[in-house]
Amino acid sequence: MYKGVAASPGIAIGKVYLLEEQETKINRDKIDITQTDTELTKYKQAVEKTKQQLTEIKERVAQKMGEKKAEIFNAHIMILDDPTLTAQVEAKIKDQQITAENAVDQVITELITIFENMEDEYMKERAADIKDVGARIIKNILGIPIQTLTDLKEEVIIVAKDLTPSDTAQMDKQKIIGFATDMGGRTSHTAIMARSLEIPAVVGLSDITQKTKNQDTIIIDGTKGIVEINPDEKALKEYKEKQQKYIQEVSELKKQKDLPGQTKDGHRIELSANIGTPQDIKGALANGAEGIGLYRTEFLYMDRDSMPGEEEQFEAYKEVAEKMGGKPVIIRTLDIGGDKNLPYLNLPEEMNPFLGVRAIRLCLKEREMFKTQLRAILKASNYGNIKIMYPMISTIEEVRKANQILNEVKKQLSEDNIPYDKNIEVGIMVEVPSTAINADIFAKEVDFFSIGTNDLIQYTMAVDRMNESLSGLYDPYNPAILRLIKNVIDASHKAGKWTGMCGEMAGEPRAALILLGMGIDELSMSAVSIPRVKKVIRSVTKKHAEEIAEKVMNMGSSDEICSYLDEELKTLE
Ligand code: PEP
Ligand code: MG
Repeated sequence: MYKGVAASPGIAIGKVYLLEEQETKINRDKIDITQTDTELTKYKQAVEKTKQQLTEIKERVAQKMGEKKAEIFNAHIMILDDPTLTAQVEAKIKDQQITAENAVDQVITELITIFENMEDEYMKERAADIKDVGARIIKNILGIPIQTLTDLKEEVIIVAKDLTPSDTAQMDKQKIIGFATDMGGRTSHTAIMARSLEIPAVVGLSDITQKTKNQDTIIIDGTKGIVEINPDEKALKEYKEKQQKYIQEVSELKKQKDLPGQTKDGHRIELSANIGTPQDIKGALANGAEGIGLYRTEFLYMDRDSMPGEEEQFEAYKEVAEKMGGKPVIIRTLDIGGDKNLPYLNLPEEMNPFLGVRAIRLCLKEREMFKTQLRAILKASNYGNIKIMYPMISTIEEVRKANQILNEVKKQLSEDNIPYDKNIEVGIMVEVPSTAINADIFAKEVDFFSIGTNDLIQYTMAVDRMNESLSGLYDPYNPAILRLIKNVIDASHKAGKWTGMCGEMAGEPRAALILLGMGIDELSMSAVSIPRVKKVIRSVTKKHAEEIAEKVMNMGSSDEICSYLDEELKTLE
């Protein structure tokens, strides 16, 4: 049994698919002249095989994820078809008497350098594609199997060091029934993604990739954070029963999906969902979301070669607004930086990306990019109940600058006679301690707050949210975090504004008790968490929650707070 971080609830039982980086060993020795023909044939066969693989992937991706996502593979096939690539590789094999993989590696490296030094941004970006194609050819020459998550033939549980946003964007989500990763915590990308896909996941397992191999049977208990590899009959039976029980419980909870998030004494609190793409709306509504409290727009920008244009963004935002049928939709402006990069922006490397040019800091530098997004959001606001939210705000000047840009965009739309919601609410995420402390100052100039605990905890506790070895310190129940949250809620109410929470803490049943007591107005979470949180809210009175919050605010340690809350939760069941 292996213990990690419980990242997404439920139980999965299935076969391991190990996602591992295989080392490619290039033979750099000079070859005998009699061997050149063999190397030439190896090269030709590898190119054919690569082309076949890419065409198959392209077709599958186009079918499942649309033509747009498949375009990248066309570009790759074009590189393969380029006669100069073949001519150069063949010349090297013959003239220098080197192996096929060595020749491809040398030619590709030269091409990458040429493309990287070009003035034209578009051409510069082609370097990454050339590298990708080169790596594929070399693997095929050496007979190393190529793993791609777009290409799964049966249901599997992915075991990996970690999954990057680009891994998950490309994967065939129908076939993946669970995740287990070495790295990550509750708020890492893999964890958030697993919750949005509603598949069980355990992360932060340290070395699970070393403990298992392809085709092993694996059990993921995403509720407890436990993984079993090749379990005996007894364990298998036990977990199958648990799995059934869990599925039943979830379906029972979902039956309450149309009941409001309301306490026993009639206090309403809005329970919303966090989404990453318009496709997530289905899960949000199925779990009874009363709105979208956080639409992470960065996924629209990721895993592609260039920026999404205004029209494409407008269509996505409009789709979300329309599908939510008048319920509130909070669109967060681009949050790139930290663990999310856009290669086509060619941003300089940073020592500490989470403390760097991230989110609003980047948007205020890249004004045209920001304006395009704001224009698309404003245009979509004509089709539903949209609100705008700026991420990573740390000073009031940032709010003012962003609003100034927003006003310019509004003015332009008015001049062009394009309709938009003139009274659109504009709020900020509170995820930097300076903003939580200065909440009273911000409350005068924004319409609402949404507390982003995923970052607020990392910046307050000085703990990297991705570092599994510090997950004990990454703690929402540390009194410092609770005090900051309370300060934000109180300051907003004093100014007649409202406060929500969209960090993962919002989806924890025991947190719901305190947050309700502190007077939070909205909780937005992974859709799967809504039914459980709703159950807690519906089983308590506001008054009782206030008493709980008051007691908790007088406690000095997370341990004390958590045991008290767990006891309280038991009495509600
Ligand atoms: C947060 O920081 O709490 C948040 C919701 O934003 P993200 O997880 O996208 O950084
Ligand atoms: Mg954040």
